[in-house]
Amino acid sequence: KNVTKTFPVGKTLLGKPDKFVHAVNNVSFDIYKGETFSVVGESGCGKSTTGRLINHLLMPDSGEIWFDGQRIDQMTQAQVRPLRKEMQMIFQDPAGSLNPRMRVEDLVEEPLLIHTKMTKAERMKEVHKLLEIVGLSAKHAQRFPHEFSGGQKQRIGIARALTVKPKLIIADEPISALDVSIQAQVLNLLHDLQKSFDLTYMFISHDLSVVEMISDRIAVMYLGFIVEMAPKEMIYNNPSHPYTQALLSAVPIPDPGRKKERIILEGDIPSTVNLPEGCPFATRCKYCKPECLKTKPEAKEIEPGHVVACHLY
Ligand code: SF4
Ligand code: MG
Repeated sequence: KNVTKTFPVGKTLLGKPDKFVHAVNNVSFDIYKGETFSVVGESGCGKSTTGRLINHLLMPDSGEIWFDGQRIDQMTQAQVRPLRKEMQMIFQDPAGSLNPRMRVEDLVEEPLLIHTKMTKAERMKEVHKLLEIVGLSAKHAQRFPHEFSGGQKQRIGIARALTVKPKLIIADEPISALDVSIQAQVLNLLHDLQKSFDLTYMFISHDLSVVEMISDRIAVMYLGFIVEMAPKEMIYNNPSHPYTQALLSAVPIPDPGRKKERIILEGDIPSTVNLPEGCPFATRCKYCKPECLKTKPEAKEIEPGHVVACHLY
């Protein structure tokens, strides 16, 4: 609720920060149990920071973050520890999050060691079961991460995240680094796991074409603001913010009979250090009017569940 996060940059002579990157600006949304909530936008739009705020890896400057009925943003690390296992992250670069000196078996076992009181035999049984669930097998258990392809490494990362039976998985660009042919396989795996493990996903991506299959609702972020948020069908059938329209125009459509014009965005992206007074998208928007430069558009519900922050509405 109304979450804002800045990072200090630059220093005065006295060593105090004199500039701030405004990474996340007054952002509010809900993620419902069992859904996939996708956050989409260009790099630097604040989507990863938002994921890290929810996961308690970062603290907001202001606003509130609630998880499963508890306010977590003011909790200490000790207070949040019991909740840690309920929120797991999957990252873009699976190799970077897997210790290269650990065998797959030990990597997947590690969260069980930290978070459970299982015996070694119980842990190993669980590890081998999970490897199979994510499409690997016991014969992979003794190998090291470098012996695997990108897609297999991401499967190891997913197995690791699942060990502690999380409620929420925050997947930050989980397939962006993979070959296109492998992307669909990993998406399908995540999709299947959602049902069998009763998972809720926050899915972060820069690409609207990637999230169509997996999303229930989508938030579009720009310059640290949510500019549009709606159930998936409304985003794809009735994109209403000019930025969403531009993002969507870049998504290839399989049906050659459907004509679509690619919207090329011109103009500079403002600096997140000096946020514009008015609409954050004004420098690139072809509908920009005088009001847009003066006043920030408030989020308005243009149809049930469909929220847009733009002076056109
Ligand atoms: Fe464009 Fe104005 Fe809407 Fe911003 S508020 S997206 S500048 S029309
Ligand atoms: Mg990112």
